[in-house]
Amino acid sequence: MAVTDADVFDVAILGGGPTGLFGAFYAGMRQMRTLILDALPELGGQLTALYPEKYVYDVGGFPKILARDLAEGLVEQAMQFHPEVGVAETATELEPAEPDADGGVAVWRIGTDRGERLARTVVVTAGIGAFEPRKLKVDGIERYEGRGMQYLVKDKMALAGRRILIVGGGDSAFDWADNLRGIADSITLIHRRDGFRAHEGTVEAVMRAGVEILTFHEVRSVAGEEAVERVTIFDNRTGEEKTLDIDALLVNIGFKADLGPVKRWGLEMMKNGIVVNERMETNLPGVYAAGDVAYHGGKLPLIATGFGEVAIAVNFAKARIDPTARAFPGHSTEEKWKES
Ligand SMILES: Cc1cc2nc3c(=O)[nH]c(=O)nc-3n(C[C@H](O)[C@H](O)[C@H](O)COP(=O)(O)OP(=O)(O)OC[C@H]3O[C@@H](n4cnc5c(N)ncnc54)[C@H](O)[C@@H]3O)c2cc1C
Repeated sequence: MAVTDADVFDVAILGGGPTGLFGAFYAGMRQMRTLILDALPELGGQLTALYPEKYVYDVGGFPKILARDLAEGLVEQAMQFHPEVGVAETATELEPAEPDADGGVAVWRIGTDRGERLARTVVVTAGIGAFEPRKLKVDGIERYEGRGMQYLVKDKMALAGRRILIVGGGDSAFDWADNLRGIADSITLIHRRDGFRAHEGTVEAVMRAGVEILTFHEVRSVAGEEAVERVTIFDNRTGEEKTLDIDALLVNIGFKADLGPVKRWGLEMMKNGIVVNERMETNLPGVYAAGDVAYHGGKLPLIATGFGEVAIAVNFAKARIDPTARAFPGHSTEEKWKES
């Protein structure tokens, strides 16, 4: 099938963590038609999924910045150039779609769980893999998913006036308890231990707000005709049970990451990373990797490293598809790209 130019992105960035977001910014600055995909419904990678309320101290220019705020800044910086964004979209396949004159690959086909995308170059910024919420292991609970039980909140106003039970003791659980105050009718939070991994300030705010917090408690069963109506919880020290009438069960017990599909694309891998050279090229023509997922001899899995690596990857991708363009972008201070 011959593909038309209109169907094809100049670069597809697979992973919307800090590395991918900074890459999308750079690609925009180089006037590349850019696609950025992420398996999660929210951009930001580990920053938003794993530690939004923690301070990061080692990103240049910020003596200290909340991970959430850093992610927000990165999104804002990337969106200046209006890349196409596919969130909640996992890249599952990568294969040549069209050869180039030298027997290489002119266009790559990226299969996703929502369809397919085409791009001249690909930058894999998949970090430690596609994130998926860790599931609550309670018999028969799957049938309530989307019927009162949820792992992610897309629209907090959909929870207005509800009696909510939040399960978890990390940042997400406490962030939602904090964010849903005044919106929900009531909030109870249960956690299986008495130590919380959440930011102290948020824990304090939630406690001060009178959210009922039950430590050493876990879910035993969920009941309801069409949707969640009741949850039975138990004290894991005594086995004592109690049943709560609720309308919404929000489970925030963390994420697991899976590089799975990336490992099947024919990329040379080492130590769970994609092997790259000094231009961030992989063994596949026109496919680059950067950030936590990229492996080379001097690898340090840090945000700062990802920024540098993806700038290299995107600029060499630009030079690959436009032989008149130099890899070195010049200095952004000299560019005329800024919006007036
Ligand atoms: C608790 C904690 C604290 C940290 N503190 C610091 C710190 O202080 N300083 C520092 O420099 N670093 C810190 N790090 C490390 C830092 O977060 C990582 O180095 C950084 O997030 C790597 O960015 P990335 O964009 O390469 O990958 P990630 O942030 O992992 O983002 C990758 C994204 O790709 C998506 N993805 C993966 N596979 C697919 C696929 N097949 N299709 C679509 N999307 C996909 C994932 O959903 C994810 O959103 C910390 C890490 C943790 C866990």
